[in-house]
Amino acid sequence: MARVYNFSAGPSQLPEEVLAKASKELVEFESSGQSVMEMSHRSKSYKTIIDKCEANLRRMMEIPDNYKVLFLQGGASTQFAMAPLNLMNNSGTADYVLTGMWAKKAIAEGQKFGKINVVASSADKTFNYIPTISKDNLNPNADYFYLCYNNTIYGTCFSTLPDVGNVPIVADFSSCILSEPVDVTQYGIIFAGAQKNFGPAGVTLVIIREDLIGKGTQNIPTMLNYQTHSENGSMFNTPPTYTIYMCGLVLEWLEQQGGIKEIYKQNLAKAKMIYDYLDSSALFKGTAEKASRSMMNVTFVTDDEDINHKFIKEAEMAGFVNLKGHKSVGGMRASIYNAMPLTGVTALVTFMKEFEQANQ
Ligand code: PMP
Repeated sequence: MARVYNFSAGPSQLPEEVLAKASKELVEFESSGQSVMEMSHRSKSYKTIIDKCEANLRRMMEIPDNYKVLFLQGGASTQFAMAPLNLMNNSGTADYVLTGMWAKKAIAEGQKFGKINVVASSADKTFNYIPTISKDNLNPNADYFYLCYNNTIYGTCFSTLPDVGNVPIVADFSSCILSEPVDVTQYGIIFAGAQKNFGPAGVTLVIIREDLIGKGTQNIPTMLNYQTHSENGSMFNTPPTYTIYMCGLVLEWLEQQGGIKEIYKQNLAKAKMIYDYLDSSALFKGTAEKASRSMMNVTFVTDDEDINHKFIKEAEMAGFVNLKGHKSVGGMRASIYNAMPLTGVTALVTFMKEFEQANQ
């Protein structure tokens, strides 16, 4: 079978080695006589799987002991409500940066529970840049500061964090988790839907500083309370057992690649290759401002809508799939997460060059 180069923004390409290992273990995991899918989540065999996944994640991301790692459900979108429900416990206000649709959705959820102060926005230019955050706009009494670190749809990414003093930062890392080294101590909460860089869809990773747990003043539904999951080791109810197992395999693969520092180097090289070409091309151009460019999602266009369509179609026929931009912005997007090899990006750039020559 010839596998395609899959540039989907999520769910996304998984490392082939991971799929091969999972397929080998599908019917029987080790000598357990059963598939991981069939195991009780409370069994010894399964506990080994989830514990190993968490331990590997902690080691690779250097997560300090005063942070909890939770494996939740409901997607990253549920975190848009869980963060305010659990953290809006003092001033009842929070500061948000509006950098696109996912931040907008988070703001809309936050507004149901308190007062949201939008401290900076890039809405004026269809979110093609990361706005400067003026210190004067920050509320030192905010219950938390919220940002979407990598903006999947627009191909923008933060490169620095504002100085928010003691206000905990809540960050949506859905499309950049495990792609570069992160100083976890800078954050109150990091969350990420798994389906881009961590594994298949179905689990949401939450890394939360312990002192932020159990402080919600509202009558929080049990399943939306971080305390519930923290006290029960993500086993208050049945977790997405197979997805967590797959995430564990992805982490083992990542370790074999040399860990996050090494994959970061590869990710930089992949992004540079495609951005360098976009900057030199007479046909294609990148849509995100240079200083705000994402290493994971590369958004680009031509000046002609018909040529965009032609490109997407011909690329698909040549085995480069899911290059269509998000429906809200159009154009093209190449999502080049950890599992996309350099050879995939090289092949795409070669194809783009050929397309450019043929369509001058
Ligand atoms: N945040 C970001 C940055 C995303 O890219 C996405 C999904 N593409 C979401 C949140 C929503 O994630 P989910 O579908 O897991 O709710």
